[in-house]
Amino acid sequence: MISEVLEKPLAVWRGKERYGSELLESLTIIFKSAGCTWSKCRMCSYRHERYHGTSGLELLNHLRAQLAWVTREFRADEYQMVKIFTSGSFFDPAEVPPAFLAEVAAAFRGKLLIAETRPEFVDEEVFSTFAGALDDGSWKTPLSCAIGLETSNDVIRERSINKGFTFADFTAAAARAHAAGAGVKAYLLFKPLFVTEGEAVADMKRSIRDASLHAEMISMNPCTVQKNTELEYYWKRGAYRPPYLWSVLSILEDAPCHVMCDPLGGGQKRGPHNCGTCDPDIVKGIREYSLNADRELVRALLEVQCECRKEWEFVLTEEKPYGMPLTR
Ligand code: SF4
Ligand SMILES: [Zn+2]
Repeated sequence: MISEVLEKPLAVWRGKERYGSELLESLTIIFKSAGCTWSKCRMCSYRHERYHGTSGLELLNHLRAQLAWVTREFRADEYQMVKIFTSGSFFDPAEVPPAFLAEVAAAFRGKLLIAETRPEFVDEEVFSTFAGALDDGSWKTPLSCAIGLETSNDVIRERSINKGFTFADFTAAAARAHAAGAGVKAYLLFKPLFVTEGEAVADMKRSIRDASLHAEMISMNPCTVQKNTELEYYWKRGAYRPPYLWSVLSILEDAPCHVMCDPLGGGQKRGPHNCGTCDPDIVKGIREYSLNADRELVRALLEVQCECRKEWEFVLTEEKPYGMPLTR
């Protein structure tokens, strides 16, 4: 018999989320699934969270039990938006049995739902059916998919992240999602392995512009060092430093559209950080900006006086690119 503890999702929490010009109450769920079938990204530890060797009805029942736990614990009238993550892709049939989609749609009918997936699992027919089951007329676009594009630069995505898909794969998936009447949210990763702070900033500025042509929502994740990852291996040997919060601010300030950003681990050595002194206020300010889209707040934070600002400026101009050979 499976214990009750095993049948909870990996995590569930309530929060707030900006959607267009509205501020919505949100529910974020991380379902434990069969796990990411790609499982090769250099910075990712989520992929370790999975049911090993489980498939078919047994897997479906695990997921059903988690969904039942969520609907039991959280009253439906307390939130308008549901964000679904798994340890990979919600729309991967090997990871989440397709029968589960209908049950999720029924449970969250009338909500605005965003579910994360790799681009290869964006299927127009599946999306149309799922969106149709979710839709009760409350929202223009009840379903959106969130895709971890990470960067619009194929070389960085390939070499620094090992993501296994191209920008063209992303744009094609976005087109399929849109054709099915669904929206697209792009997740970007700020400062993966093997790029300097300056290269990473330039990469994000460019990626935000590129992604905004195909996605209605953009969220930027400043990289954190998760346990049991290749990124951690390099970080422990002094070959990686998480991004500066100054850099995060400069990117948000430059962006042509609103970019959401929740600096996880902000101010800590494994997360995006400055010197430690100015970090708490900046992290708080970035979270506020994510919700209120007040660009003046970002500008004001960039004016904060702290000694480490000079260090950041020095790093931006003086750090040299990683000498990775192009051939073997
Ligand atoms: S980042 Fe996403 S695609 Fe990459 S290994 Fe992790 S779960 Fe899989
Ligand atoms: Zn500082």
